[in-house]
Amino acid sequence: MCSTNLAQAQNVADAHTLHHQQLLQRQPSVYEEINLLDTVAMKELLITEPWISEAALLYGENWSKDRVNPYEASKMDLPDSMYIDLSNYCIPHNGYITSNYGWRRRRMHRGIDLKVITGDTIRAAFDGKIRLTKYERRGYGYYVIIRHNNGLETIYGHLSKFLVKPDQEVKAGEPIALGGNTGRSTGSHLHFETRYLGMDINPNAIFDFHNKTIRKNELIFSPKLLASKGPSAIHVEGTKYGIYGGKSGSASGAATYRVRKGDTLSRIAQRNGTTVSKICRLNGISKTSILRPGQVLKLK
Ligand SMILES: [Zn+2]
Repeated sequence: MCSTNLAQAQNVADAHTLHHQQLLQRQPSVYEEINLLDTVAMKELLITEPWISEAALLYGENWSKDRVNPYEASKMDLPDSMYIDLSNYCIPHNGYITSNYGWRRRRMHRGIDLKVITGDTIRAAFDGKIRLTKYERRGYGYYVIIRHNNGLETIYGHLSKFLVKPDQEVKAGEPIALGGNTGRSTGSHLHFETRYLGMDINPNAIFDFHNKTIRKNELIFSPKLLASKGPSAIHVEGTKYGIYGGKSGSASGAATYRVRKGDTLSRIAQRNGTTVSKICRLNGISKTSILRPGQVLKLK
């Protein structure tokens, strides 16, 4: 091979390399491209899935049509603070309270009793899906459990007739049953419970049954405290019913942060001028803990 050809070949090769380099320079970096894809994917997700309910994130696949409390909250890694949206509600029945939540002789009464006349319409407290309709002779009688999109579950007992079936979706205020006197009941009434992951919450802390309204549009409480110490360990601000509840996270602004969909610890830290390790330390979580939308994190 002569030297001239070699030099020509080298020139061609150099030109080729240069061309490649120029092309590469004009391309967006791999990272820019990934960010772009992320944004597009996120936008599509927001359009096609406008609402992933709190309940779906909280309960996952756990959908029992048999048991009142199939959850083992005490064994779960629960957040220190949780936000629940109560704004779209309906009081299940307008009857007066005949027996309150709390200890009754030696038994814990995990709900409240409202006076009904057999045949009265009972309504869904919030939007949600019927988890079960069942009969229990020595207990609830005919009863319905609804899992609500906001993360709560409600129980309606001593009914005379079901107006819904399991897996049926209902809106707040929709008739679900007729009131009655079935099961362990003396005199027709509605036994009504509000629960979170199977743990009872005093319904009075959510509803003002006397004035037929809701106490607050949102509920911020500590699932961790509820699971470890029981409902009587925690208090709701502004109510005398201190049976669950917790810190008022949203009011204090920068001291706390309410997790939104898609948030990561590093992004939250960056936006709030703090560090991931500080957030972890304040909230007793690890860098790999799963963040749930609605979860409230301490920042200070
Ligand atoms: Zn009762």
